[in-house]
Amino acid sequence: MEEIPSEQTTLSDNNILNYISPYFQVSETKYGGNGCFSYNTIPKGEIILISKIPVGSTVSRDFKKEVCNLCFKYDDGRNLKHKLGLPKYNQYLYFCSETCVNTFNEIDPEKLLTKSLLDLDNYYNQGLKKPEVEYSSKPLTESNIENKWQETEIWDNDILKIKSTKWSKFIPRINESEYSEIKYIISILFQMFQSENAEANTEFMKDLNIRESLNFEVKLFDFLQNSETEKYLKFPELLESYVNIFKFVRLTSPIQFQKFINTSTIRSIIGKNLTNAFGIWSITGDSEVDHNINENREFFGFGVFPSASFFNHSCDPNIKKIRKGNELHFQTKREIEPHEELCIDYGNYLDESVEIRRKQLKEWFFDCGCKRCEVELKSG
Ligand SMILES: [Zn+2]
Ligand SMILES: [Zn+2]
Repeated sequence: MEEIPSEQTTLSDNNILNYISPYFQVSETKYGGNGCFSYNTIPKGEIILISKIPVGSTVSRDFKKEVCNLCFKYDDGRNLKHKLGLPKYNQYLYFCSETCVNTFNEIDPEKLLTKSLLDLDNYYNQGLKKPEVEYSSKPLTESNIENKWQETEIWDNDILKIKSTKWSKFIPRINESEYSEIKYIISILFQMFQSENAEANTEFMKDLNIRESLNFEVKLFDFLQNSETEKYLKFPELLESYVNIFKFVRLTSPIQFQKFINTSTIRSIIGKNLTNAFGIWSITGDSEVDHNINENREFFGFGVFPSASFFNHSCDPNIKKIRKGNELHFQTKREIEPHEELCIDYGNYLDESVEIRRKQLKEWFFDCGCKRCEVELKSG
């Protein structure tokens, strides 16, 4: 593939999207939003993209000791042997191997991420002494949502007037799902901090080292779709929960992250995770291809790989996704024609009827408009 990204970019003033892969261009689809379109014919079995590492990820507390913090390896529920700690902390991060520990250290040379994640565990435990909070699940309107966040900004301005050494008494209790969400937010804030002064990228992702890949993913993160409001309308209790998360993050984050923290950044980080996150499941046997509906598989958490977020869904996909440790590989399932849209499937409901598929896909807040649905709806 010698194809050079075309100069004519269909997106804003930026051609960064042309450096995701030499095989495809990200441009607008006929049905709205962006999609990935092949430049040329691509043979069957070709790897067209490797997203090397999530820009943000989380594993639930239940699997803290059993799932590798870097590559998500799982050893059938056994506690992993390789630990990373810091003096004066009785908490650890767990890894499957020394290689993963070393790579993690390479990504986090100043131990800022390590410290933030260990602090999260300590604050979580301290919070357990405080009373549990229940959130209202009364249906919301868009103005309820904006009012709640305006109130939160007033709270935030008041907090910023107080010395940060006095903040600890305001730290709220968080529940387990907030813990998971905060872990993801911390990883994004850390990458924002690390990539702050990174230069613009002029090479394809496949030629970048791990730090450069992360810098590139941080830039791509800006392009992701935010479905925050849709989430609140469907799950109203999330509004108070996200406000709680915001307060926790403000009050517990290190000084290096503070300048990135404001209501709009945190709302956008959370709002982008649902439609863009890839679920992280245990890998069973020789099957590395994700099949979400399988009783033998455990759900650990999720990772956001912005470079992999531009593929749309089809119920007859021409691309398959394969997870190899912390990497996502995308491979053609058949020969691709020039200018064909490259699609994956989001939920692996492909064996279901068109009605069930469409209902399941609503979880991602869209109506599937793929050719297969069109044909099956007509004939149904
Ligand atoms: Zn590992
Ligand atoms: Zn469909």
